[in-house]
Amino acid sequence: MIRINENYLKLETSYLFVDIANRVSAYQKEHPDIEIIRLGIGDVTRALPSACIEAFQKGVTEMASDATFRGYGPEQGYSFLREKIAAHDFQSRGAEVDAEEIFISDGSKCDAANIQELFAMDAHIAIPDPVYPVYLDSNVMAGRTGSFNQGRYDNIMYLESLPANGFVPHLPEQPVDLIYLCFPNNPTGAAISFNTLKTWVDFARENQAIILFDAAYESYIRDDTLPHSIFEIDGARDVAIEFRSFSKTAGFTGTRCAYTVVPKTCMAYDKNGEKYSLHTLWNRRQTTKFNGVSYPVQKAAEAVYSGEGRAQVKALIDYYLKNASLILREMQTLGYGCVGGVNSPYIWVDCKRDGWEFFDLLLKKAGVVTTPGPGFGRCGKDFIRISAFNTYENVAKAMGRIKDVLST
Ligand SMILES: *Cc1c(COP(=O)(O)O)cnc(C)c1O
Repeated sequence: MIRINENYLKLETSYLFVDIANRVSAYQKEHPDIEIIRLGIGDVTRALPSACIEAFQKGVTEMASDATFRGYGPEQGYSFLREKIAAHDFQSRGAEVDAEEIFISDGSKCDAANIQELFAMDAHIAIPDPVYPVYLDSNVMAGRTGSFNQGRYDNIMYLESLPANGFVPHLPEQPVDLIYLCFPNNPTGAAISFNTLKTWVDFARENQAIILFDAAYESYIRDDTLPHSIFEIDGARDVAIEFRSFSKTAGFTGTRCAYTVVPKTCMAYDKNGEKYSLHTLWNRRQTTKFNGVSYPVQKAAEAVYSGEGRAQVKALIDYYLKNASLILREMQTLGYGCVGGVNSPYIWVDCKRDGWEFFDLLLKKAGVVTTPGPGFGRCGKDFIRISAFNTYENVAKAMGRIKDVLST
């Protein structure tokens, strides 16, 4: 009798987006004349930069003739792309990252979900609350957690992000082995300062722990004092892995390209305390289970680093940031405590009541869809996330309606 991986049964069935979709369609059915504005999604809405499209098309054309056709590429990605990334995203900021330490992939979601394979089943894990669900669920599936009790899994240390700590979790009070961090954060939009990130790196070094740093929203940072990469911090190369993606940067959510940085000096240990290179292990994992990202997509990603591409990507992000700043300003003017909205496309709003209740109010009274904070964890109970991914016109219209509803 074939049996299932029963860890899957421990997964808290997250009906968040299904639940949202159901409430929205029920409302739309009752009010077919109302134009609903969606500020709930975590997906970009604007087209790929033209520099990327041109390179993408050229790549496709190369596949059309035997002379330039490409079959399997390197599992780690083509060096034309890895070298551009190392130079532009790291070395230009003083972060010591070599092209060979970069692994190109088809998404940060898979990388962030797969990386846990490298670590012991009894590793002590610290995960933020609220959180991007992938970190938690991938460890549940692997069997590292206990059961789900009152909104939390046993055997997980939750790193709480709340108004009291400025939405940047305090260092754990007990030692942990594996720490997930995401800055600028999804869902809160909070960013981390250089000095605070350094305290995490120091903590990881003292505890022989590893930090898994998700920097998917790095390119939304406009404050020059904030670190873009954990590798800008001294000593991080020995204790950190970083995830980056072209999804929110250059609009690649449907095109699929991302990368993970595993420094060659990053080590973990066997039961006898013997050191092993995580770079070697991840390389082994990828060459066994992954066969690379398509050539035209890697060409499209490379174009992000051309002069034209960089200007276009900056304009794309500036557009979303202008939306974010309008949302932030209006919600603050209405008297709501907010975080994010600068250095991030997300605004995390303290609703002063249950997040689902506020979600329903904005849907039914303003026809605006947001994301209820409780879907991201216990600490999201009284929050909603508003996303800047829409047209400026729609954002302005939505904020006008919200203002009418909340100021009466
Ligand atoms: C969108 C997002 C990613 C990127 O995922 P891809 O699979 O690269 O599209 C990674 N982490 C967070 C927190 C995100 O919100």
